Parts: sequence; structure tokens; C-alpha cells
Amino acid sequence: MGNSENIIELKHITKSFEDGFAAVNDFNLEIKRGEFVTFLGPSGCGKTTTLRMIAGFETPSSGEILLNGEDISHLPPHIRPINTVFQRYALFPHMNIYENIAFGLKQKKTPKAEIKKQVKKVLELVDLEGFEHRNVSTLSGGQQQRVAIARALVNKPEILLLDEPLGALDLKMRKEMQLELKNMHRELGITFIYVTHDQEEALTMSDKIVVMSAGEIQQIGTPEDIYNEPKNTFVADFIGESNIFNGIMTGSMKARFAGGEFITVDDVKEGTQITAVIRPEDVQIVSPSEGQIKGIVSDVIFKGMHYEITVESGRYEMVIQSTKSATVGDQVGMKVEPDGIHIMIAEDHTNYFNVDMNRDHRLEYNGTILDTSLTKIIKGSKRNEDKQLVDANGEIIDPDKIRIIAAIEPGDIKMTDDAEEVLYRASSPA
Ligand code: ATP
Repeated sequence: MGNSENIIELKHITKSFEDGFAAVNDFNLEIKRGEFVTFLGPSGCGKTTTLRMIAGFETPSSGEILLNGEDISHLPPHIRPINTVFQRYALFPHMNIYENIAFGLKQKKTPKAEIKKQVKKVLELVDLEGFEHRNVSTLSGGQQQRVAIARALVNKPEILLLDEPLGALDLKMRKEMQLELKNMHRELGITFIYVTHDQEEALTMSDKIVVMSAGEIQQIGTPEDIYNEPKNTFVADFIGESNIFNGIMTGSMKARFAGGEFITVDDVKEGTQITAVIRPEDVQIVSPSEGQIKGIVSDVIFKGMHYEITVESGRYEMVIQSTKSATVGDQVGMKVEPDGIHIMIAEDHTNYFNVDMNRDHRLEYNGTILDTSLTKIIKGSKRNEDKQLVDANGEIIDPDKIRIIAAIEPGDIKMTDDAEEVLYRASSPA
């Protein structure tokens, strides 16, 4: 049994094609009656396949689709109270507008007078009053798409599926139609499920966005949630622009990344490997002494509403949006407030090595001094009964060379075939 607030529930839906490829994998989603839900993701992530399963054009390999609490996974499309609008209008070219819209009602043997009334009503809704006798070929792309929407709406579906319906329109028409569709949704009160790969379109139109990648849901949330609190780096990168850095928590609400130390709002345990995401509009350019990090401006592009400024800071790069320009080659400081930093716990791919710390606090590995500064010591040593300093295995530590564990992130390891430079030589596979 489903929840009665929900019109559609997808439970553990998987779709594998004959070649064994799983286009959709364990997809779980609840859609409330009257919601405007958008499936958003890059090409090939399984948006259309999911929509086609809801419409009934594809059968799930496993899982259930509930409509008003009833399993419809195996019902044919024409029995479902669901209509689809496709990217290509799929209008009948030999019929006029009236006949195109009336087609479905005629099939259902609806009385003529009723058909006339219904066609008039939907044409008003899509702002095409008086177009009944026009030929399809005389309409613009935007007008044809409105006819396609009218033809779907005349069947009074409970759910309208829209598969990239504005994909073939130019930008201006697209923006106009986005607003019109949103208004139509508000007036009709029916559930819209919309597919797009355009993040701006999804943010503008939806009550709820389902971000997908490689057949799996990455995040479900309101446009604000998805933009402000991306759950992982895929979402952060796909929705809007982001600066993404690997780092480590260095204390309570303190993180180190991009060569600087930052105060954060997320309280993650000290020592945790993290990924920090910063939106370009959350970075302020300040004087070099005021910033948490500094760097050299390497690029400035005028974008209309703002400048997009790239600053190189050592091996890191920060993209910044600012209403004020900057000069290429200048040294600047960069400041980020705690709520502009989104911390995600990263998978730990750190490599641990035993290295020696000499009396100058320099690190040595295999007799070579490492060109690095010591940022953190993971304590492992203790005194034995004779008050000698010993390591975790009980071995006596030479106080001239204290053995410590160095944590090295994969990104900091350079591979080289220069024997002189080498600290560690991996053996070739046999
Ligand atoms: P787009 O935005 O490009 O339309 P999408 O997110 O809608 O992409 P789908 O059309 O759902 O993606 O396709 C998901 C994956 O499933 C793709 O890799 C596609 O090639 C594959 N696929 C879709 N239909 C079939 C099929 N009938 N047989 C085999 N593979 C298929």
C-alpha cells in the first residue's frame, strides 16, 4: 500500500535492456499529487527510460510502480491516466489543429458537441484561441509544441509527462514557454513530471528536482536544497558552477584545503578527509592580507551580470563571480564566509608511509629529505618501562630520528621516470 498523498510511487525500479545494460538502477521516488517534479541529469543517465516506464512504454525489469497506491507496472499505456508530450511535437501533419487535438476524444467516441467544447477550452489554456482551422505546417515551433500540450491535456490526464518539451525551441521561446508551462501547472493542479538536462530550466520550474547520474538518483530536493546543499560533488558540479577541493578537518569547525585554513559551519570530526565545495559567488576578492588564501588573477571574463575571475593559488584554482572587475596579474586575497563552504565527507584514499622526522623537523623517507612542511603528527609513540621512547610495535625510537606516519593524498603523489627524483619505486607487475 502506498501513501495516499502520493500519486505515483516508484519502488526499487530497475530497467536492464537485452544487452544487460542497466539504464535505471534501484530507483525509489514518491511524487505527491499536484507536484511539479523534474528529472535532471546528463544525456544517457536514464531520465527518458524512467519516464517511459511511468507512461507504460517500457516495463521495469524489477520493482513496482504504484499509481494511487495500485501497482500499474504491467498496465498498457492507453489504460493509464497519463499523457506524454515529447520533444518532437509528433503532430499529424495532414490534420488541422482542431483535428489533431480532437483525435483522442474521437477515438473514445466522445459526443461531437463535447469534443468542440473541450478543444476550445484547451486551446484557450495554451493561448491559441481561434487557431482551430490552421494547418500544422503554418505554425512556429513554439505554437506546435503548445498544440502538442493541448492534445495531451484534452484527455484530462492525472499526470502529464513532458520529455524535454522545449528542447527544439530557441532560447527566447524556451524562456516564454517555461513560464507558460508553470502557469498552466498552477491553473490545472495536475501532476507534471518533466525531463530536462538543463539545470536552469529545472531550477526555474520545479517544486522538486530529482538529480540523476548513470541510472541512479543522486539527490532529491527543492531547487533551493539542490543548489544550496548539494549532497555530493556530482550534484555540486552539475547544478551551477562550483570550486571543488580535497581537504581535511583540522579541528572543530575548521578545515584545511586549497592551501588555506577555513572556518566551516559543518562540524565534522578532526582528521576526516573532506571535499569542500564553494560557489563562485561566495568568494570575495579582498586585499592579499585579508584573505584566507591569496593568489594571482589569471583570467577575467565579462559575463553581463558579473565578471568571472580566475585566480591561481599555487596548484589550486578558484573561479569567482564578482560585480567588480580585477586585473590579470594582480595579487589578491580570497575570503569565504563559513556558510559559503559546503563540506562533504570524502572517501579516504590516503596513503600512509612510515617516515623519519630528524632534529630539524624535516621528514626523511628512504634517506631522502622530503620537500614538505610538517602539518600534523599522528601520535603513536609512548615510553616503555625504561622510559625509552618506543613506537607502536615496541621498537625503540632513535630520538635523532623519530619515526612517524605520513599521510599522503593521491593528488600529491607525482609519478616520474627520473631515477634521481624517486622516493619510492613500485615494482612492475609480473
Ligand atoms: P537524453 O537526455 O540523451 O535523452 P536520458 O537520460 O533520457 O538521455 P535514456 O534515454 O533514458 O537517457 O537512456 C539511458 C541509457 O539507456 C542510455 O545509455 C541508452 O543508450 C540506454 N538505452 C535506452 N533505451 C535502450 C534500449 N531500447 N536498448 C538498449 N539501451 C537503451
